[in-house]
Amino acid sequence: MSDNIKSIHEFDVNLIVEYYTTVKRQGPGSPEITKKALSFVDGLTESSHIVDFGCGAGVQTMVLAQNAPGKVTGIDLFPQFVDLFNANANDLNLQDRVKGEQGSMDDLHFQEESLDLIWCEGAIYNIGFEKGLKYWQRFLKPGGYVAVSEATWFTDERPAEIQDFWMDAYPEIDTLPNKMAQMQSAGYLPIAAFMLPENCWIEHFYEPQVQAQEDYLKKHAGNNAAEDFIKNQQHETDLYYKYKQFYGYAFYIGKKL
Ligand code: SAM
Repeated sequence: MSDNIKSIHEFDVNLIVEYYTTVKRQGPGSPEITKKALSFVDGLTESSHIVDFGCGAGVQTMVLAQNAPGKVTGIDLFPQFVDLFNANANDLNLQDRVKGEQGSMDDLHFQEESLDLIWCEGAIYNIGFEKGLKYWQRFLKPGGYVAVSEATWFTDERPAEIQDFWMDAYPEIDTLPNKMAQMQSAGYLPIAAFMLPENCWIEHFYEPQVQAQEDYLKKHAGNNAAEDFIKNQQHETDLYYKYKQFYGYAFYIGKKL
């Protein structure tokens, strides 16, 4: 890590949450990719129960709900995101079958074997890919599906700068075959895995943040922590443009064995 860039783990979580409530998406992705991942899931009906962990404001959850039958629950640790989620569901007239609830993805109160599909875009890293998949498996019905997007190395080797960045940010980042093997040993048959295209990062995630960063800096003028946080965001974006051939996100879809 360079001297004047702090680790993301050093920032006050309230600053981070406030920032991400001002952008549409809280992680890389796109409606097309949500629909592509959903295309590998079979057997959903009007009585299915789908849960989206780390749903944030729920942009991807709404796409899911518009393209799959059944009841959809979004779970997020932060009430600020849950409020945005429920407002989005209302705006799209989905409130009768789509509900956001505050909770933690590693402390669930669902009945075991009660869920048909567990969804999680860019959020399982909060508890770790292997730990999350293992813990969630018991809540799926036999034959139920899990679909998660996760930070992934695209090559076996990479430059030290990006290796060091990720070892600090999320050391569980790994190659696609290793992630699939982890999914298998967590009790799922890996059905599909595919990398997210660059537009999921650039058009849907980083570009909308340019204006958000300007507004945030104006609002927090003179606040060193806020300024450092935006510097950190910009550093992360610069690294993506510089090293995007070496890493990104991949979607992993598995069926409970
Ligand atoms: N899935 C959304 C998307 O793709 O836009 C949000 C992704 S964002 C990178 C990660 C989300 O996980 C945030 O909304 C954050 O509040 C949530 N989160 C963090 N820790 C969590 C936990 N333990 N349980 C549930 N949600 C959590």
